[in-house]
Amino acid sequence: MAFSRLALCGTSLLRFLAVSPLTTSAAICLARPPFPTRSFVIHACLSIQTSTPVESPYLKKMNPWKPMCLYYTQGKCTKMDDPIHLDKFSHNCSWELETSFAESKHLCSQNLDFLLVLDLEGKVEVLEFPVLMVDANTMQVVDFFHRFVRPSKMSEQRLNEYVEGKYGKLGVDRVWHDTAIPFKQVLEEFEAWMAHHRLWGNEFPGALNRAAFVTCGNWDIKTKVPQQCKVSGMKLPSYFMEWINLKDVYLNFYKRRATGMATMLKELDLPLLGTHHLGIDDAKNIAKVLQRMLADGALMQITARRIPNDPQSVEFLFENRIR
Ligand SMILES: [Zn+2]
Repeated sequence: MAFSRLALCGTSLLRFLAVSPLTTSAAICLARPPFPTRSFVIHACLSIQTSTPVESPYLKKMNPWKPMCLYYTQGKCTKMDDPIHLDKFSHNCSWELETSFAESKHLCSQNLDFLLVLDLEGKVEVLEFPVLMVDANTMQVVDFFHRFVRPSKMSEQRLNEYVEGKYGKLGVDRVWHDTAIPFKQVLEEFEAWMAHHRLWGNEFPGALNRAAFVTCGNWDIKTKVPQQCKVSGMKLPSYFMEWINLKDVYLNFYKRRATGMATMLKELDLPLLGTHHLGIDDAKNIAKVLQRMLADGALMQITARRIPNDPQSVEFLFENRIR
């Protein structure tokens, strides 16, 4: 039964693909549950399997979720004046992360103003670079930066297999191919974005200004960023000298170990947003954990720092940490 529904769903998707250039986001609609229950995937499919794509007001009311426009998240959506497009795809990256003051009665005074949640995707070379900027004092998502990244040292065939293997099953390979840019260009654009927010730049060279990266584990900044910089023929930028590993803060604050994002979400009774392993969604989920920890009264502190004269070496600042 489930198979036939999904098959119908695929047929109507093909019809949709024939008239819309936004094929990948449409596919996310199929791949991404609006809530963490699988049954909603089927409902979402059923809602578009009819020949006339009329939206049920009931479903619309029950399910405000729409697939995110991944052109928009990268500042590349050209259909912002198209009501049909706006109706089909979400153009608000942070509505799922809105918090209320009622949740923040234990919020403590932070030493940092902004927390930049970063979650890289891509094991061989980086494929996605998403950052959510969270105000440490209000817990609100202030802005975000998202780019798909084009590997620089890969044959076309290997690249296609790599992207298909990573994003094909999530239905976002088309948007990846449409938008991915080299890592060097991603960092240049990211630096302009940080300068705009006065987080880094000519005024504030060196480390981030009253801000810090927040990652789930040490891999992203300790391992992957330097590796990718080397592959891309770049010097490691100064803003990647220190970071907060949320798992270490979690261990010291709640006095229990969490092996990863999914464990932290589960233990804090938070639903998984979007699709696991789509970087922008993983960053949202890590931000959700961060918001809860801030609301519970956790102090966000740097957990790891490179030795200035020996950037290959990293000093871990918490005695009690995840190894
Ligand atoms: Zn759009």
